[in-house]
Amino acid sequence: MPPTILFDNGTHKNVLLEDVSSGLAVQANQHVIVDGASGMILDPGGHKVYSKVLAGTMTQLGRSKLEKIFLSHQDPDIVAATNGWLMTTDAVAYVSKLWIRFVPHFGLDHLVLDRLLPIPDQGMRLPLGSAEMLLLQAHFLHSCGNFHLYDPVSKILYSGDLGASIGGETVEVQDFDAHLPAMEGFHKRYMAGSKALRAWVKMVRKLDVQIIAPQHGALFRGPAMVERFLSWCETLQCGMDLLDDELQLPA
Ligand code: FE
Repeated sequence: MPPTILFDNGTHKNVLLEDVSSGLAVQANQHVIVDGASGMILDPGGHKVYSKVLAGTMTQLGRSKLEKIFLSHQDPDIVAATNGWLMTTDAVAYVSKLWIRFVPHFGLDHLVLDRLLPIPDQGMRLPLGSAEMLLLQAHFLHSCGNFHLYDPVSKILYSGDLGASIGGETVEVQDFDAHLPAMEGFHKRYMAGSKALRAWVKMVRKLDVQIIAPQHGALFRGPAMVERFLSWCETLQCGMDLLDDELQLPA
């Protein structure tokens, strides 16, 4: 599957890189945003995909420079190759302040330690070229220190593990109901609870979102599909909602 251009107005483009997943490792999407001379990679992934994702990113950047790396949370399919990215580029990486002292356990050379920067709990605005990305709170969806990225130029909301699907449609959801089984089990077990989901939906409804792009599986395009996803999130029982009052010992 070649790279998918999700948005391009001549100075600003959003690209879903070619899928390089293989073997046992869960399928993961890598997204690149370029605004003028400035570029950014979102959730670049681990060592197995590092060299291919780096090459794909450089192709999309052309003469633009990789300035920023966004890490939605601390999972290995997102942060494991952070050292490689920081060693081979001059970029700075952003991750929740909750994870800033854990990511180095994947191995960060002291030379690059000061280029791993904390995102405050309330989120932040992050300039990219002439644009400004919003790093949005998405705590407990699923990580306790979790952020999504909203790009106001392309109106794409990059939602990390929220909206993730495994074994469903590959690039874009065509039939929401048919796609649900590929999302349901994952969300019920990995998302922390309905309170976090409802609070997130309230925040997202303040934004003009044309695409919701998760880190695994297919994306949701267009206002109708985005709305189907938001209203599903609004009522989903998951995580703590489904926890038994008393835990059973192993049989
Ligand atoms: Fe995760």
